[in-house]
Order: sequence, then structure tokens, then C-alpha cells
Amino acid sequence: MQNISEIEELIKLISRLPGLGPKSAKRIVLKLINNRDELVKPLAKALAEVYKNISRCKICGLLKSSSVECSYDNCSIVGKKYDKICVVENISDQWSIESSSIYQGYFHILGGTISSVGQKKEDLLIHSLVERVNKDNIEEVILATSATVEGQTTAYYVQDSLKNTKVKITKLAQGLPVGGEIESLDDGTLFSAFKNRSKLNSNSD
Ligand SMILES: [Zn+2]
Repeated sequence: MQNISEIEELIKLISRLPGLGPKSAKRIVLKLINNRDELVKPLAKALAEVYKNISRCKICGLLKSSSVECSYDNCSIVGKKYDKICVVENISDQWSIESSSIYQGYFHILGGTISSVGQKKEDLLIHSLVERVNKDNIEEVILATSATVEGQTTAYYVQDSLKNTKVKITKLAQGLPVGGEIESLDDGTLFSAFKNRSKLNSNSD
């Protein structure tokens, strides 16, 4: 292979993407170079747009375009009123649950788990979750964190943070394998986990 620094750099960057190693990165770069107008140009434009306009909402953690502003009592990203919030670790968890169409309601993306490397409680969107519950007539919070030690520790901490609210707290149960990450579950497992969610507090019914 020739040593062209621009190409080397691109291969290096692409191989950092999930599921791709240097070999697939090289194939992708070749495909791009051979399709400059059809792929490189629109891709560069789409990347620039995402970089400029898309960010995570500081209240609910969802991805949003810069023109949308959420408030504690109104999630303008969803644009609908619900009385449930499903709490997940990451955006990929939200996407998995959404695509299974098991659940109708708001999402709240914590942004990780408490014990992930370098992740502190303060980095997670927990305070804003309590605010949403207090200000948006929420009746149920569903804890859909992974069945890993980190996921369960985080769920416990979220539950504890909500103890002064009157909200019903439930947690995904049967069907969720120990060590299972939400994003890697199939629809059937997710469905059963949602259906069999268990109640964690005794505040209300
Ligand atoms: Zn939001």
C-alpha cells in the first residue's frame, strides 16, 4: 500500500468505529475513494450537520437537534404526553426498546452506569430525572438498566434518589439474563422483561 497520510488517517479513524477493524476500514476507504461524488461528498455533509446540530439533551439525555429545547415538564423531543419514564443507560438501549415497540412512554438516558470506568454519579442524569418526575405528572418510572453489577448498582441508586417522590418504581425482571445488556437482547426477551417488571417501592399502585 502507498503511504498517503490523508488515507492513512481516514483508515485509522474508521477502524475506531464499532465492529470495524483495519481490514474493513481499508475496504470502506477504497469504496469511498471510488465513489467521491455519490458517497464522500454527502457523507462529509451529513457528518458536518450532525456535528453542528445534534447533541444530547441535558435534561432527558435524548439526542436532539439544536432547534429543540426540552424543559422538565415537557419533553419536546417526544412531542407527546406520557405518564411513564423508562430509564436506560445509553442511547443504544433506548433504540433497542423503541424498535421493539413494546413500550410507549418517555425515555430517560442516564449516560452510563455509576461504576463504569471514570463515571461518577454526578456525571449521570439522575438529578434531572427526579425533577422530571416531580414536575411532569409521572406515575411510573421503569428501571431498564442492564442485569450487570454496574447496571443494578445504578438502578438501586436511581431508586434511592426517587424515594421522596410518590412515583411507582418498577424494574425489568424475568427474561433478563444475568449479565445481559439491554441493547443486546432480542425483542422476545425484552417483551417478557417489560411485561414482568416488578414493583420496587410501596408508595402507590
Ligand atoms: Zn430532553
